[in-house]
Amino acid sequence: MRYLILSDIHANWEALDAALDDATGRYDAIVCLGDLVGYGADPNRVTDWVRANAKMTIRGNHDRVCTSDESLDAFNPIAAQAAWWTQNALTATNREWLHNLPRGPVKVNGFDLVHGAPLDEDRYLVGLDDVLAEVDYLSTRLTFFGHTHVQGGFEVKKRQIRRVPKISNNADEGVLEFDPDALYLVNPGSVGQPRDRDPRAAYALYDTEETWVTYRRVEYDVEEAQRKIRDARLPDLLAERLSRGF
Ligand code: ZN
Repeated sequence: MRYLILSDIHANWEALDAALDDATGRYDAIVCLGDLVGYGADPNRVTDWVRANAKMTIRGNHDRVCTSDESLDAFNPIAAQAAWWTQNALTATNREWLHNLPRGPVKVNGFDLVHGAPLDEDRYLVGLDDVLAEVDYLSTRLTFFGHTHVQGGFEVKKRQIRRVPKISNNADEGVLEFDPDALYLVNPGSVGQPRDRDPRAAYALYDTEETWVTYRRVEYDVEEAQRKIRDARLPDLLAERLSRGF
């Protein structure tokens, strides 16, 4: 079974559309690691599409905060302003669907999906120490995670952890080959708000019959996504950062 792995779309329809176009013919099913909404100007269009087309979606922290009365205090002022805007923009159907998304880890066909970290959806896996704290809780050889908006991941072999490479900034594709004795935490990158200094939309492909994950990057219409953010009077920084990729 060939999976398209999407994460952190963040209401960016132009980025999602380009990623789907780029992945055409290369997958049988879609899984989504959460944060469909927050930051971008198209929360309903993105949610409608994922709701209709993804086989499994888990919730991200923005999906939770934008659909509940949880305090926005944990968010910086810009994220909080975007969350407040999103709460008001979502249709009742989408709000309810996002609110009821399952929390990871969720197992799909032998691999796990989490938003932040296996133990805590709000936790960022950035450094090797962050991963060490989670190693004992990995239940499969392959766990996909998001939340950091950084494409790449970690290999865990006999409690030794190392970073596994992401795509170099001018390539469209990179392949991570599995060592049969290691476990992997793989971040497909963010579709709609990359923060790894590469503004292109990021996603991953995984075929359960194979022993690798493919990372992809694709150009999209950044200007159109920015125009919508500005027209919606969302904070300008949210538009600006899309062209920087951080
Ligand atoms: Zn996110």
